Amino acid sequence: LLSPKLRRITQLLARLPGVGEKTAQRYLLFLLTAEPALATELADEFAHLHERVRPCVLCGNLAEVDAPHAPATCGVCLDNKRDPRLLCVVARVHDLVAIERASTMRGRYFVLGKLLSPLEGVGPEELPIPRLLRRIEEDGVTEVIVATPPSVDGEATALLLKRELAPKGVVMTRIASGVPHGGDLEFADPITMGRALAGRQKL
Ligand SMILES: [Zn+2]
Repeated sequence: LLSPKLRRITQLLARLPGVGEKTAQRYLLFLLTAEPALATELADEFAHLHERVRPCVLCGNLAEVDAPHAPATCGVCLDNKRDPRLLCVVARVHDLVAIERASTMRGRYFVLGKLLSPLEGVGPEELPIPRLLRRIEEDGVTEVIVATPPSVDGEATALLLKRELAPKGVVMTRIASGVPHGGDLEFADPITMGRALAGRQKL
C-alpha cells in the first residue's frame, strides 16, 4: 500500500523498541496529517541528537553540550548537593534513570557501559575499571553501591568489582533483591527500586 519511500520510513520507525510495523505506520500517518512543523522539528532534533547529547566524561551518563566539541558533564555530576563520597555503579544509562526515578540515591554514578560476560566473550579488560578507580580516588569515595542487574552477568560483574575495588578500602554494598532475578532495573517500579537501594547489603 505504501510507496517505497514511506515504507522505508515505517521500517526505520519500527526499529525503535516497542514499536511494531503497525505502530510505525500509525506514527507515519499521524505525522503526514499533523502540522508539518512537528515533522520538521522532530527531524531537526534527531539530526543533531548525537552532537548535542554525549556521554558525560566523568560518569558516562547522558549530558547535553552547547558546542559540538565541548567536554560533556552531566547534571548529576554538576549537582553539588550530591554526596561525592557515595558512588553508585550501574551497567547502563537506563539503570541510572531507573534509580533516579526512585530518587533515594543522594550520591553520584558511574556507568560501566557493559557487563562482564564470559559467555559473550566480554572480559574484565573491556570494562572501564581504571577510570572507575581514578574516580574513586579523585572524589574520595567511601561507599560504592553496586547496582548491576541481578542476572548471571550482573553478579559476575559485582564480584569483579569487589575484587578490583577491595584494596581501595571503600565500603562496598550491593542493592537488595526485590528487583526480579534476571530482570532489568529499567522495569522496576520506583518503590521496589527505592527498597532495593535502602536494603543494600555489604558485598
Ligand atoms: Zn556525569
